[in-house]
Amino acid sequence: MKRKILSGLLAASMTLSLLVGCGSSAPATSEAPAEAPAAEAPAAEAPAAEAPAAEAPAAEAEAGGRVGVAMPTKDLQRWNQDGANMQAQLEAAGYEVDLQYASNDIPTQVSQIENMISSGAKVLVIASIDGDSLGTVLEQAKEQGVAVIAYDRLIMNSDAVSYYATFDNYMVGTKQGEYIRDQLDLDNAEGPFNIELFTGDPGDNNARFFFGGAMDVLNKYIDEGKLVVKSGQKDFDNVATANWSTENAQARMDAIISANYADGTKLDAVMCSNDSTALGVTNSLEANYTGDWPIITGQDCDIANVKNMIAGKQSMSIFKDTRTLAAKTVEMVDAIMKGSEAPVNDTSTYDNGTGIIPSYLCEPVFADVNNYKELLIDSGYYTEADLQ
Ligand code: BGC
Repeated sequence: MKRKILSGLLAASMTLSLLVGCGSSAPATSEAPAEAPAAEAPAAEAPAAEAPAAEAPAAEAEAGGRVGVAMPTKDLQRWNQDGANMQAQLEAAGYEVDLQYASNDIPTQVSQIENMISSGAKVLVIASIDGDSLGTVLEQAKEQGVAVIAYDRLIMNSDAVSYYATFDNYMVGTKQGEYIRDQLDLDNAEGPFNIELFTGDPGDNNARFFFGGAMDVLNKYIDEGKLVVKSGQKDFDNVATANWSTENAQARMDAIISANYADGTKLDAVMCSNDSTALGVTNSLEANYTGDWPIITGQDCDIANVKNMIAGKQSMSIFKDTRTLAAKTVEMVDAIMKGSEAPVNDTSTYDNGTGIIPSYLCEPVFADVNNYKELLIDSGYYTEADLQ
C-alpha cells in the first residue's frame, strides 16, 4: 500500500524495522514502587523509590557507575513496569541506579535530571514527558560528558542525545489501522462505516508516529467516503489527547457521542492510539452509547484493557514487552560505559531536529483475546490472577 509521507516529524523514509527480536527476558517486577514526591527527593539519596539495591562493594560500583533513569509518571501502568525492569536489569549488570518519576510535570523532570547530573550519573536514560522541553538541561549533561539515551520517546531538538531505544512506533499505528481495515473488510464491503479517532499527547513524538501509521492505512478509505468521521475531527491537533489522559479521552468521546451518535447512529470503530485513551472511550461508550459495540484499538496491554478485551469491550491491543526494551537499553548503557558502539537497527527514521538519532526499534506485537494468554501469561508478564 502506498504510504503517504506525513509531517516534518516523520522522516522521509519510513523504513520498516529489521524486526530483530530484542534482548532477553528478565522477570517482570510486579510491584510498582510508590511514587516519591519528586520535587523534594534529592536524587543523590533516592536511588529508587522501591527497595534499593544491596550495597555494592565500592570497587564494583566504580566499575559499574551511576545511571539516572527518568520516567514520566507512575499514573500509567507501563512506566512502572519500564522503571522497575530498567532498575532490576541495570543493577544485575552492576550499575547503581537513580530512578525517578516526575508525575507528568515537566519542571519536576527537569530538576530530577539536573540532580542526576550533579550527583554523578554517567549515563541518563530518559522517557521524556515533553520531547521538546529538555534541551537546556541536556546541554549541562553534554558539557559534563554525560551520555543520554532517549527511552521509548524521542527527545527533540537536542544534540546531547546519543541513542534512542524504542519500539517501532510507526508499525504500532499501521497494525491498528490494518486491524480496522480487515475487521470492517474495507476493501470489499460497501460501507460507509463510522469511525472516530483518538491519539496521544502532542508533546510526545510517538503520538505522531502512531497516528501517522494508522492514518496511512485509513486515509484512503476516508477519502473514498467508505469511512466517515462523523465528528469531523480527524487532524492530529483535533484528535490529540493531552497527557494521554483517560479522563480527557472520555470527555471528548462524551461530546462526540452526544453530538453525533445519540440518535442511534451506529459507530463502527474507534481508532485509539493506546490503552489509556481506549479506556476513556470505553467508559464513555458504556455510559452513553446504546448501539452495537464498535471495534476499539489500543496499545500497551495494560491490565484494565486486557480485562476489557476478555470481556469483549476492547478489540485489540499492542503488546510492547518492556522487559525487552529494558534489556536493549541496558546493552546501550553498557556499550557507552565501555566506550564502544551500542547496538542499533535503524539509522534513518528518527530525526530529532539535530540529525538522525541511531535507534534500536523493538518489535510491537498484535494482541487480542485469542493470543493474550500465550503473550502475557505464558511469558510471565502477568499472572492469571492479575487479569481477574
Ligand atoms: C508510549 C505508549 C504509551 C503512551 C502513554 C507513549 O510514548 O510509547 O506506550 O501508551 O506514551 O504513556
